[in-house]
Amino acid sequence: MYKLKSITLDHKKNTAGTEAQKLPLPSKVLIPMSMHIGVPCEPTVKKGDHVFTGQKIGDSDAPLSVPIHASISGTVSDIKDYRLLNGKVCKAVEIESDGKEETAECTPPEITDKASFLKAVRESGVCGLGGAGFPTHVKLDFKKEIDTLVINAAECEPYITSDYRQMVEKPEDVLGGVKLVMKYTGIPKTVIAIETNKPDVIEDFLKLTSDIPEIEVLSLPSTYPQGAEKVLVYSATGRIVGEGEIPADKKVIVMNVSTVAFIYRYTQNGIPLISRRITVEGTAVKKPLNVFAPVGTQVSELLKFTGTDVNTVKKLVAGGPMMGSCLLSTDTPVVKTSNSFLADSEYTEPVTTACIRCGRCVRACAMELMPLRLEKAYRDKNKNELKRLKVGLCMNCGACTYVCPANRKLAETNQLAKLLIR
Ligand code: SF4
Ligand code: SF4
Repeated sequence: MYKLKSITLDHKKNTAGTEAQKLPLPSKVLIPMSMHIGVPCEPTVKKGDHVFTGQKIGDSDAPLSVPIHASISGTVSDIKDYRLLNGKVCKAVEIESDGKEETAECTPPEITDKASFLKAVRESGVCGLGGAGFPTHVKLDFKKEIDTLVINAAECEPYITSDYRQMVEKPEDVLGGVKLVMKYTGIPKTVIAIETNKPDVIEDFLKLTSDIPEIEVLSLPSTYPQGAEKVLVYSATGRIVGEGEIPADKKVIVMNVSTVAFIYRYTQNGIPLISRRITVEGTAVKKPLNVFAPVGTQVSELLKFTGTDVNTVKKLVAGGPMMGSCLLSTDTPVVKTSNSFLADSEYTEPVTTACIRCGRCVRACAMELMPLRLEKAYRDKNKNELKRLKVGLCMNCGACTYVCPANRKLAETNQLAKLLIR
């Protein structure tokens, strides 16, 4: 099989050895009504209402949407506008804790067939927990023939270990979720794709699946961006997901490892997606670790839990260093797709210099793009050239920016270029 281009990064998985800890109950949470790709929810509660942990507080009739639940019990103290990372504004429900952690009546869903399974997945509020946030029930409601489920357990970004800890702490949830998806959607084969920098979990899953021929455990080279969807599909199946295509066009569904594990837990206890495992790392963080935090908790609470003085934070990133987004404030809430926060105590904006045409960005791109030429086409606002150079294939992996000796913002420019074409 052709070997895709990639780069090698220092993994810095410093939190891999620490079990995730539960964050103390926050005094309030702010829960945005848009934490998934698709139509934002409308609040189903009003100011002054008392809510229980796990109670639905937002929903939408739109097909591409998932409900949202209260992550703590208490009083709805405000419903206000909230600006998302993408600049859009949605409603957000603020809940002041009553300190009781009173839980709504959560019962495991009754699942008998594909329709009831998909309904349960929707009601759980789950969307892609790897960061994409695509509604999982929509992804699983495929109309085409699918022959392979690929579980994305690569976790190729440096620092992040939340998926790894899922596999170490609860591998049975992962396997349970895989079996449920296979059973109710009829997908005959699964590939659990794990990078070789996690040899212990590869060994564990090989043992756990030794008598299940339909489930293959695949060791992937620890290169970047191994976990990018198109790259992963190619590594796991040899199939190329082309421009404008999704994995289902190649008979493949890709699911994040923590997403399938959550689906299994929901079918066992009926508790919707109200908290998640998050890596907290960076040079400002006193004690890097993984925490279970309720959705809506301010990042500052997570930082304080790690013994960090929030005033020392000079740069805060949601996600990994390669694909994450900078946050303006430590008041930003945890959302369903938060898998990591990186807080650094030092930051100097890199100085951008002229392109020296070294070609490193071209050699780094797994999609065989030419970032330097894309950058010029964007500067010229030449939409035809951007299309000809296939900017639509850019995965925003950041590899080109990372290797550029001139510190050119190549991946960032491609995102703007895609918007320009749209
Ligand atoms: S890596 Fe940077 S300097 Fe080298 S060709 Fe690409 S844009 Fe130019
Ligand atoms: S960000 Fe886009 S152009 Fe740059 S290496 Fe990744 S896929 Fe290629």
